[in-house]
Order: sequence, then structure tokens, then C-alpha cells
Amino acid sequence: MTAADPLLLTPGPLTTSPSVRQAMLRDWGSRDPRFIALTAEIRARLVALAGGEGSHVCVPLQGSGTFAVEAMLTTFVPRRGKVLVLINGAYGERMRRQCALAGRAIATIETAEDEPPDPAALSARLAADPAVTHVAAVHCETTTGILNPIEAIAEVTARHGRRLLIDSMSGFGALPIDARRVRYDALAASSNKCLQGVPGLGFVLCRKAALATAAGNAGSLSLDLYDQAAGFDADGQWRFTPPTHVVAALAAALDELDAEGGIAGRHRRYAENCRILREGMEALGFVPLLPAAVQAPIIVTFRMPRNPRFVFERFYEGLAARGFVIYPGKLTRAPSFRIGCIGAVGAAEMRAVVAAVGRQLDEMGVSL
Ligand SMILES: *Cc1c(COP(=O)(O)O)cnc(C)c1O
Repeated sequence: MTAADPLLLTPGPLTTSPSVRQAMLRDWGSRDPRFIALTAEIRARLVALAGGEGSHVCVPLQGSGTFAVEAMLTTFVPRRGKVLVLINGAYGERMRRQCALAGRAIATIETAEDEPPDPAALSARLAADPAVTHVAAVHCETTTGILNPIEAIAEVTARHGRRLLIDSMSGFGALPIDARRVRYDALAASSNKCLQGVPGLGFVLCRKAALATAAGNAGSLSLDLYDQAAGFDADGQWRFTPPTHVVAALAAALDELDAEGGIAGRHRRYAENCRILREGMEALGFVPLLPAAVQAPIIVTFRMPRNPRFVFERFYEGLAARGFVIYPGKLTRAPSFRIGCIGAVGAAEMRAVVAAVGRQLDEMGVSL
């Protein structure tokens, strides 16, 4: 790794493999039968990964993950519906805002950013508010990297006869979630996180029976998943210009996921990456924001050291010069910074970043 060709230790876009990048070295006609077949292939493979064969359909959508989440919320929640959004970070808050802009009635349950939503509180709220039609929840809240109890949330939501919409953007592909056991109407994710593709494509795994009743809800042409799915049903084609190279890269990325042993294999590698990162950083004196019990193996948030010689900009630039791009954006309330442990990186790379952090602290004259 070098400063010119760095490792991205970020939650996506992230470090991709050479074969994923190589898959983009040819052009595809968007209406060519070969590209139509490629689209059908990735849609079927994503449904299979979710355990949704027979019950669910994959609707890919041009754009970043946020586009897919917005399409999911507006397509599935009817105009007269009401969404209960579970918020413990920036992405839950983003869903609340998307529902508000779309004019949907909203309720929220907010917990601290280091505290998962409580299924018992959800149950009580659903019992108290019969107007709520949908619950919207984030699987891994990337703000901190916290793992939310999605199975318990799904169980409570189903028990109350309501419908669940999941933002599993930073989880799908690495965190197990099987549609045969976890009941949801829709789950949104994207090409460039745990699937290790490149950015440009979101997708929503939709329960077929729920999608069938969603015509006309979206109030948007481009973000209407019902229409998008109808387009694929009609002729296998995308309604509007598809991100052809991104689709090709995703197919290669799915090959690599299979070769790694699927979601279970990927989870194992990320968990090991996360362990090495947390333990190595703790040995250097950093303090993770989250207790290990609620840490998802996706991205680790560290408290900003109080040492006056620890200037984050210098720390960041020093690591970048050593070939490691960490995540500079702070989303948490507490002063913090984040380092991702997902992408085409393994134990050696995680040990290398910890070593680089140690050298950078020495150079800054910081001892924690
Ligand atoms: C990355 C992410 C998104 C979408 O972000 P984009 O920048 O639009 O790709 C949504 N939710 C979560 C939890 C995420 O991690």
C-alpha cells in the first residue's frame, strides 16, 4: 500500500479487489441481451443470499444507498401510512427526514448512540399506537458501528401485525439475516459496502406480496420501486440508464463472496479484522466508544484522545501518507473518529494499520 494507491479503511466506498476492478474494463450495451442476463443474474444471486427465494424479489436502483432507502420508504409506506422510525444514529435520523419530506406520518423511538433500541419499548409503543403501519430500523448503525437487534425487532413487529423496513446498508453481505427467519417487507443495501463492489447501485429486497400492493405510493418517477420492478418484469431492462460497469463489478464481487464461503465466511473475516483493530488500538491507549457486546464487525469508533498533541488532522494525514485512509467524518455526539474493518482487507492489513497508528503517535509525540 502506498499513498497513491491507499487502502480504504472506511465503510464504503472501500478497498476492492483487483478482479472486481478488472470486471469494469469492458463496456456493456444496456439493452444488449448479455447485459440483460447479467442484471437477471445479480438480482437472483442477491435474493438467494437473503434467503428470499420464492418470497422476495431484488429491485436494483441507480444511485447511492440513500436513494434505495428513500425508494423503499416511499414505495412501501402508503400516503396514509405511519412510520415508526427507530433512531440511534445518523442513518435512523436520515430515514426520519426522508419520511417527513415525503409527507408520511412519523413516530420515533430514540435511544443514545451507544444503546440499541429496546424490543420491549417497541412492543409497548406498537400496542399504544395502532396508527403505525410500518417500523423502519437500521441493522448496523454505521454512525458508531453498533449492531441493532434486528431479529427481535422483526419478531415484535410481526407479532403486532405491522410491517418492517430495514436499512441493512452496512450489514448485508456480512451480517447474517435470513428472510426465512426474519420477517420483513423490504431491506435496502448497496453494492459498495459488505458486498465489496464499487459505488453506484443500491437495491431493495422486496417481499413480492407487499410490492404488489405498492403501485402509486412513491410519488416519484425515478425512485418508484414498483415501476422499477415492473420494468424488469416487462423486458428484463432497467427503466433508465443502468450503471453497467458497477453491475459487472458486483457480479465479480459476488463470485468472491461465494468463494469466501458466503455471508458466514465474510462475517468470520470481518470479525477477526475487528478484533485485531480493537485490541491493537486499545493496546496503544485508544478507547472504543462501544462495548464489544454491541460492536458490529463493520466499523469501529474510537473516542478522540484528550491529549493536546493529538491533532486529528495531523493524525489523518500521517496515516494517509502511510497508505491508510481512515474515516474523517464524525457523526457521533461524542468526539470520536472511525476506522472501518470491511473491504478486501484481512488480518495482515489490520495489523499494518495498527502499526502505522503507533508510528504516527510516536511522530506526533503522543503517548496515550
Ligand atoms: C452507507 C449507509 C447508507 C447510505 O449511504 P450512501 O452514502 O447514500 O451510500 C445508509 N444507511 C446506512 C446504515 C449506511 O451505512
